[in-house]
Amino acid sequence: MYPAPFRYHRPASLEAAIGLLGKFGDEASIMAGGQSLIPMMKLRMGDACEVIDIGRLPDLSFVEIRDGMLCIGALSTHASIAASEAAARIPLVQEAGGGIADRQIRSMGTIGGGLSVADPSGCWPTSLRTLKTSVQVRGPAGARSIAIADFIQDSYVTTLQPGELVTEIRIPLPAANTGSAYVAFKRTAAAYPTVSCGMELVMDGQTCTSASIVLGAAGPMAVLCAAAEQALVGREVTETSLGEAAELIVAASDPPADARGSAAFKRAMLKTLVLEAGRRSLARSRGEQVKGGHRYA
Ligand SMILES: Cc1cc2nc3c(=O)[nH]c(=O)nc-3n(C[C@H](O)[C@H](O)[C@H](O)COP(=O)(O)OP(=O)(O)OC[C@H]3O[C@@H](n4cnc5c(N)ncnc54)[C@H](O)[C@@H]3O)c2cc1C
Repeated sequence: MYPAPFRYHRPASLEAAIGLLGKFGDEASIMAGGQSLIPMMKLRMGDACEVIDIGRLPDLSFVEIRDGMLCIGALSTHASIAASEAAARIPLVQEAGGGIADRQIRSMGTIGGGLSVADPSGCWPTSLRTLKTSVQVRGPAGARSIAIADFIQDSYVTTLQPGELVTEIRIPLPAANTGSAYVAFKRTAAAYPTVSCGMELVMDGQTCTSASIVLGAAGPMAVLCAAAEQALVGREVTETSLGEAAELIVAASDPPADARGSAAFKRAMLKTLVLEAGRRSLARSRGEQVKGGHRYA
């Protein structure tokens, strides 16, 4: 289906984009990579009357280490992040970018778009929630920094105010002996995950000193469970302790039954993914080079 008629704007600067957002208000739709917006327009979901294409704005496409943080410009594509040496400092980030959809979508879609859509099965909302990520935004009132936990407020709902744009994502570099992983189960490449899991473990010898576990596509928002993390902290990370953590966090999840699978199937897959993410994170905390990748049906 063709989209309904719309007007197309391509501002030359961030300030001009913010000005257009203010001018058109509710009628404005931001387009970055267009990989979510264009399909929605073709399905005639929502009214995109004034499309503001920020995709070619300068200075918002970078992946670099700055001030002890991995800094990613909002217009960085999933593919550029997956290929970045800077992003390799946090394997979970590379795994998330490298597993999104297929090569075409990864080459166009952006991290700013993927986060702002706030799809509960999206790879960036789940993976970035696992880390101490902050989201930098700019709007008519200036710039502000929002913790990822506050940025996504519900399924498809963010705390972005009218006229605000995501400009950058910042993630503190991990301490030594830290390992992370993001694993999704997908029916096929060009599909959102059926379920996913992000994990970060900080180890002191054989003992886990900090654990972060997040499930994606397992409820209306990313699923976290303090009890599951506590099942690992202060203990050795083994198949037994990982299994206990998996039981606890999956019990806290509420995966919807849909075309991707029944709730029972998703719960079973989630347990498998927690174990897989845990094994990879543990190995990486020891400095082992572990190949990433998702599970496909
Ligand atoms: C077949 C298919 C499979 C897919 N599979 C996956 C998958 O496995 N995992 C996954 O995570 N995603 C998947 N996606 C989504 C894809 O990753 C998109 O690229 C992403 O969701 C949106 O990024 P975009 O740059 O294309 O955004 P756009 O489509 O350009 O914009 C989408 C919306 O995001 C908002 N937006 C964009 N940029 C900004 C910004 N800088 N600041 C504020 N708001 C902004 C706008 O409101 C806009 O309406 C898939 C998409 C398709 C079509």
